[in-house]
Amino acid sequence: MTVVIDRTTPPSAAKSPGPVSAAALARRKADQGGGLYKKRVPIYPKLVHGKWRTIKWAMLIATLAVYYIVPWIRWERPGALPDQAVLVDFTGRRFYFFFIQLWPQEVYFITGLLVMGALALFLITALFGRLWCGYTCPQTVWTDLFIAVERLFEGDRNARMKLDGSPMSFNKLWRKTGKHAVWLGIGFSTGGAWIFYFHDAPTLIRTFWLGTAPLTAYISCALLTAMTYALAGTMREQVCTYMCPWPRIQGAMLDEHSLQVTYLKDRGEPRAPHKKGQSWEGRGDCVDCNQCVVVCPMGIDIRDGSQLECINCGLCVDACDEIMVKMGRPKGLIAYDTDYAVVSRVQGAKPTYHPVRARTIYYTVALALISGLMLWGFLQRSPVDLHVLRDRNPTFVRLHDGSIRNAYTLKITNRGFEPETFTVGFTGLKGVTLKTPGETASQGLLTVTVKPDEVRAVRVFVTAPAKALPAENLPVAFTLRSNIGSTETRTVFLSGEANAR
Ligand code: SF4
Ligand code: SF4
Repeated sequence: MTVVIDRTTPPSAAKSPGPVSAAALARRKADQGGGLYKKRVPIYPKLVHGKWRTIKWAMLIATLAVYYIVPWIRWERPGALPDQAVLVDFTGRRFYFFFIQLWPQEVYFITGLLVMGALALFLITALFGRLWCGYTCPQTVWTDLFIAVERLFEGDRNARMKLDGSPMSFNKLWRKTGKHAVWLGIGFSTGGAWIFYFHDAPTLIRTFWLGTAPLTAYISCALLTAMTYALAGTMREQVCTYMCPWPRIQGAMLDEHSLQVTYLKDRGEPRAPHKKGQSWEGRGDCVDCNQCVVVCPMGIDIRDGSQLECINCGLCVDACDEIMVKMGRPKGLIAYDTDYAVVSRVQGAKPTYHPVRARTIYYTVALALISGLMLWGFLQRSPVDLHVLRDRNPTFVRLHDGSIRNAYTLKITNRGFEPETFTVGFTGLKGVTLKTPGETASQGLLTVTVKPDEVRAVRVFVTAPAKALPAENLPVAFTLRSNIGSTETRTVFLSGEANAR
C-alpha cells in the first residue's frame, strides 16, 4: 500500500485540539506581545521514572565522569615531556592524546576530527533525531544536574512552585541559599576541571590553591564558573531555544523517516479525562492528565506536534507510559517514531523504518571518506620533517674562483622521544660542496644532531663550480636520513651563470 504524506499539513505543524499547557500559553502570549525581549516563564519539570530517564541518568554520570576524570589520567612519556594523557600544552605548543602527539603544523588533524564529529552528528540526527540534544549536549547534562540539585533542596515540581510563590522565610532562605551555593560549587568544579586540560593537573591544583598558578588559569576558571551557573542554573531551556543554532540547522538533516519523540495523535485523539470503569469506545487513549507536559524540561506540550524546542529527551514518553500502565492501556502513546510511520498507520499501512536513505548514505560515505583520509594521513605521518628556506637576498654569491654559492636554512624536526643524528644530503647537481658554519660535508653528507621533540635550524651553504651549471635555475633537493625516518624536500639552486648571460 502506498503511503501518502500530506506535506500541506505536516505533523510538525499540527495543532492539538485539546488544552495547551500554561507555560506554552504564556509563551505564545509573550510571542504575540511584539516586544523585543521575552520574559522567561519559569519551568518546574516534575521528576519522572522510566527507561529513558534511566538512560539519561546513565549518560549524565558517564559524560560528567569523562569530563572530570580525563585530565587526571597519567601517561608516561620520556624526559621532560608531560605525563598527562590528554593535554593541550600552549606553552610547549603541543597537543597530547595518549600515544598521539600533535605539533602546531599538524592542526589539520584536529580540523579533520571536528569535521568527522560534525558528520557523525548529521548522521545520528538523520537517523534518530536530536539524540545529541537530549542526552549528551553539555547544556542538557549540566541543566539536568542543576535541576537534580534544585529538587534536592526545594522538592519536586509542586513544592518548588509553592516555595517560589511564598513570601521570604527562614525555610525559603536556607533552601535557596543552599541550592545556589551547590550550583556555584558545581560551576567552580566545572571551570576547575577545564583548566586541567591545559596544564599538568597535579601541579596546577597545587599552584592554584597557593596562588601561584598562571593568571589565565584563574580567569578561565572564573569565566567557566559564571557560565555554568548562568547557562545551567538560570537560563536553561532558553539556551537551546534562543542561543543555540543547532535546532535550526538540524531541520536540514531531518526528514519524515527520522526518529523523533512523537505523540501518536491517531491513537490519542479525541482526548478526554477517563474515569475507572468507563468505556474506551469512540475516544482516544489520551486521558488529558498533562503528565507529559509537567515533566518536560522545555515546558512544551508534545501533543501540539514536533516543535523546535523539543530536545528529544524522551521524558514525556516515560511519563505517558506510566499513565498508560495505570489506565491498563498499551504503552507507547508517546514514543520515538517517524512522521512516515504515523501517516502509514493513519492510512492503514504497516509502518516501516527506513534507516537507509539518500541522506544517510551521503553522510555515511562522507564520514567514511574523511575517516579514511585521516587514518591514512596518520599512518603516513613521519617522525621527522625537513623544511628548506632558500636565502632570497642575495639569491646567490659568486666566489673568487667563479663558483656559485646558494645559502639555505634547513629546519629539521625530530618528533621522536630520543636525540637523533640525521644525515643531510643534496641531489640534483653534481660536484657541489655542502657546508654548515661548523662543518664541511664529508662525501657530500652533513651530520646534524637534533634533541628529542625539537626543531633545529641549520644554515647550509651549497657551492657549485661554474662550469657545472646549466643556463637555467636548477630543481634540486635536500635529503634527510636517520634511524627513525627519512624524507626529502625540493627546492631550487639559482644559477649565477644563467643570470649573467
Ligand atoms: S516534549 Fe518530550 S522529548 Fe521533547 S523536550 Fe519535552 S519531554 Fe523531552
Ligand atoms: S501523559 Fe499521555 S495520557 Fe497524559 S496527557 Fe500526556 S499524552 Fe495524554
